[in-house]
Amino acid sequence: MTSHRILRKAISHVAWSLPTRDRLARRALRCVLFHHIWPAEDELTAGLRVTLHPEEFADRLRFLGRHYDLLTLSELLSGSPLPDRPLLVTIDDTYRSVVMTAAPVARELKVPLVCFVNSSLIDNARLSFDNLAAYVANTQGIGLIRRAADDASIRDLQDLFERYLPALTMSQRRAFEQRLQESAGSDGAHLASAAQLYLSTAELRSLAESGVEIGNHTATHVHCRALDQSGIMAEVIEAGRLLETYTGKPVRSLSLPYGARRDATPLLLSVLRDEGYQAVFLVEAGVNRAIPDLWAIERVAMRAGPDRETWFDLEIKPRWEEWRRPA
Ligand SMILES: [Zn+2]
Repeated sequence: MTSHRILRKAISHVAWSLPTRDRLARRALRCVLFHHIWPAEDELTAGLRVTLHPEEFADRLRFLGRHYDLLTLSELLSGSPLPDRPLLVTIDDTYRSVVMTAAPVARELKVPLVCFVNSSLIDNARLSFDNLAAYVANTQGIGLIRRAADDASIRDLQDLFERYLPALTMSQRRAFEQRLQESAGSDGAHLASAAQLYLSTAELRSLAESGVEIGNHTATHVHCRALDQSGIMAEVIEAGRLLETYTGKPVRSLSLPYGARRDATPLLLSVLRDEGYQAVFLVEAGVNRAIPDLWAIERVAMRAGPDRETWFDLEIKPRWEEWRRPA
């Protein structure tokens, strides 16, 4: 067990037993994030930290339902005063497990969902960069990733996504992806087709018809800081329009792939405003204000663990991160 994990366990234990703990949760918006709700990892997902067991997912939703006022995106965007303990549940990355496991559980527990989708992955025509990198790392070792990246210091997949990848331009990123495809011995299309990991058009439509709000997660899951005007149009705006065509419903929110505030560039935000978008979501585990900034909504990624640790992740850790962050 890492020292981080021990600290989380210990602090959550103490904080959860405080009689004043519920006062922490009042007023400001909380937003949580899930990805792939599935019983086990496989070679396309191991190491990405995206998989959560369906039973664990149900437990987390029950906890959230007991301790918070669960919102729809419409309620958040309405401008009306928020309830006492507002919380929004979101799911990123287009995994088919949303229709197979997550949405049915959420429906049963009456939890509204916002689902952020990558338009290029619909119908399993290709493999996302993240799943391709995981496949190469899991089947051939991280050494192959290092060679394709020409960077011997890459420690693991998280390091690849957090440090190496954001520094690339779009053309460098495409070239790197191509080298990974060569390493995998596949352009990813047949792997995607065989795995059926992502939503089909029909599944996406049925999800939207069942009341799940569909949001935009870019076409190919890129770091938006690398996009110029034409890149924004292709990766974000056209992607959103395609989702609207599939679902027949407006797309009014964007979740930034990898979730960093730096990817919400002034150019991107201004194009989004012009196009009628109303909200942008991050994943920096920070704190939302009582009146949240809808162009930088902080989310907390959910993981397995007892209730008190989820509560720690939602109530203690974001404040700690905010306090530590340079002004
Ligand atoms: Zn994502």
